[in-house]
Parts: sequence; structure tokens; C-alpha cells
Amino acid sequence: MTIKIIDSHMHCGIQNVDQPFEMIRAYLDRGGIDGACLYAPVEDIYDRYSFHFEDTAAWMACRQMANDYLLDIQERNNDYFAYYFVWNDFKTEELKKGYRGVKWHRHEYEPVYHYDDPRCEDFLQEVYRLKLPIVLEESYENTRYFIGRVNGRTPIIIPHMGGLNGGFSYLFNAGIWDNETIYADTALASTREMEQFVYRYGVNRLLFGSDFPFGFPADELHKVKKLGLTSDEYERVVFHNIMELIGIEKSHRS
Ligand SMILES: [Zn+2]
Repeated sequence: MTIKIIDSHMHCGIQNVDQPFEMIRAYLDRGGIDGACLYAPVEDIYDRYSFHFEDTAAWMACRQMANDYLLDIQERNNDYFAYYFVWNDFKTEELKKGYRGVKWHRHEYEPVYHYDDPRCEDFLQEVYRLKLPIVLEESYENTRYFIGRVNGRTPIIIPHMGGLNGGFSYLFNAGIWDNETIYADTALASTREMEQFVYRYGVNRLLFGSDFPFGFPADELHKVKKLGLTSDEYERVVFHNIMELIGIEKSHRS
């Protein structure tokens, strides 16, 4: 029996970058991977290089198109799942359109999310209601703040096993994953980090991801294969965990 594989973290867009769906599919085929969770590229969401970025009608339109593009892919293809990439306009009504998750992304020195905006709270309330997982890439300080604020009301996925949220060891030693609603994706992490995670927490909250175009699906999958998991464990990491998180499969824990 072949194991189905989903890459839980890929960027796909055709405005400020050239990463069309056809390219995504070609890279997945090369790795024997069946599908993916798709996020817009940051380049289509806001100007990450301008700390004092001010939103404009043109950026709003670009953002809308970037998210819509993924919804369209999801509608036409099995095993492709669209995430809504949120920015400071917090368009709560968009979430009802069928997105499977939310992407929340900011690095230190990039423009900041308006956490105090009442629209931010409204947006989060809708995310909790729909039980959408949030892929949270933020500074270490904001990561801790955000986890406290969400407080288990919906799952949070820390990409790169924390590599860009303060660093794996830092988060691991701080016990971030002691909270059972917090997951990790493997994108750009090392096999050694995955081993440490699995040794302490098991395989049920680890998700295979590549962060394409920053990582390549076949290479990133190879790192997961090197973990030496049993077939059942491997299948959780590359398939079942993400399918349960996005509500396609019923949770094995309930
Ligand atoms: Zn990414």
C-alpha cells in the first residue's frame, strides 16, 4: 500500500513572484508527493522590506487576488488546500469562503500586525469558530503573546520547527510544544531537530512541509525519511496529522 503524502507548507502565486500552480505540481511530482497546503507568497501580501509600510488600495487588491488564486486551485484540484494569508485589514468575511487554514507571517523588522485593532479580535473569533489552524511565523516575543491569546481555541502550527520564531532550541527549551494545541512543521529544519521533537513529543504534532520555494519538497521529504520512523509514524507526519488539522479526516484522538 502506498502512503499518501501532503506537503503542508508551500507558497504559490503569480503576481510579485512567479510560482504558478503548474510549477508547484511539477516539484511535487518529482518528490512523489500527492498534494499541498498552499499559502500566498509574502511578496503579494505586503511590502516586507518597508517597516513603516502603509496599506494601499493596490496592495489590498493584490492580496485579494493572491488569496483568491489559491481558493480557485482548491476548487479545481483534489488534495490542494488554500490558506488565507491575513494582513491588517483582517477581512473576517473572507474566511467563510472555504479556506482550510490561516497564514500569519512576520519577521523581526518587517511591518507589524495590529494586534490591538478590534478587527483583529473579530477575525480571531471567526478563526476559532471555524477551527482553522493558524500557521504562525512571528518574533519569539509575539509568538508567546499570540499563543497565550489564542489559548488553545484553535491549533497553531509553528513553521520550520521554530527556526524563524526564535530558533528551535530556544522554543524547545522554553516548552512551547508542551501545549498540546501547538504543532510544528519540518520545513528547512534538520533531521536532528525532528529527532529531538519526536523523542519528547511523539509524531502526532509534527507535519511534513517544505516552505517552497525556500525548500524543495523532495529534499525536505528526504530529511523526514531519514528519521527512521515506523510506517505508521511516517504516515502521521506526511499525511494524517495535516488532514486532521484541516478537518478533512476525523481526529484519531476524539
Ligand atoms: Zn513559508
